[in-house]
Amino acid sequence: MKIVVLSGGTGTPKLLQGLKDLADLTVIVNTAEDIWISGNKICPDIDSVIYALAEIIDEERWWGIRGDSFRTHEQLKRLGFDEFMMIGDLDRATHIFRSELLRQGYTLTEATKKLKNAFGVKAEVLPMCEEDVATIIVTPQGEMHFQEFWVKRKGEPEVLDIYFKGIENAKATDDVVKALECCDGVIIGPSNPITSVMPILLVKGIKERLRRKKVVAVSPIVGNRPVSGPAGKFMRAKGYEVSPLGVVEVYADFLDVLVVDSSDADLVGKYKGIEVVATDTIMKGKEDAKRLSEFLLELFRL
Ligand code: GDP
Repeated sequence: MKIVVLSGGTGTPKLLQGLKDLADLTVIVNTAEDIWISGNKICPDIDSVIYALAEIIDEERWWGIRGDSFRTHEQLKRLGFDEFMMIGDLDRATHIFRSELLRQGYTLTEATKKLKNAFGVKAEVLPMCEEDVATIIVTPQGEMHFQEFWVKRKGEPEVLDIYFKGIENAKATDDVVKALECCDGVIIGPSNPITSVMPILLVKGIKERLRRKKVVAVSPIVGNRPVSGPAGKFMRAKGYEVSPLGVVEVYADFLDVLVVDSSDADLVGKYKGIEVVATDTIMKGKEDAKRLSEFLLELFRL
């Protein structure tokens, strides 16, 4: 079965560890959190997707490479250059490889393909677009890039609004269009609906193609809070209820099925014309991811 997955950098990569052996996958990845640091372009969500698919992701933090060292980062600090993101030595090699290709004139799509092939990843991994998009968090202390909010300020400032700088110029690449047109269905993994999925939905040419496919999403919200990360804060700032039904609202105009956690089984039924089904969605390891993946793929066989 040909499946397209829309992904951010934590919840969906967990799921990909199960899906990768069960379907012919193309992963369309959010690039609105990308940032240039210390001379290199970091694509946090693309990197996490590749590392998860290559089974080398650090499963404690859900970013970076398992067992990585931070000697370059520490040496830079000693020299008086304080990188605000912790970048591992092996992880930095990924960033250098990508950035060199970009400097040579390769597109991000081409560079990502070379990178994922170098890691032996079979699934297609596609950036959502080629244009630069930046997630900006509006706080009482001013506007800041997502990474400044989340990494430097530890997600602490109050969030007034979120917007995606440059999104109006972003259009689906030929590869993204082809993947969406040729697939049997689309899975939106349990990713942050606002900062991971919304930018992908706002890329010109994507949403209208989702409307023509069966789309199944996994709720990243269990009960009235996210499993991890700032999704609750962001949903509230955008006027959505922090609940699985709030997730339905974000995806309402193209979603067919929302999968909620078993602990939210009281929501099973129809909500605004969208089917709500329940299963265990907390992934503590590959076995959980595999079981959830099988459940999701079954929904496309119905
Ligand atoms: P980011 O780019 O690092 O923000 O990562 P994503 O957007 O891909 O994933 C973050 C979301 O994944 C958060 O909203 C979490 O609530 C959700 N999440 C993380 N792990 C799990 C899990 O095991 N199950 C479910 N249902 N959601 C999860």
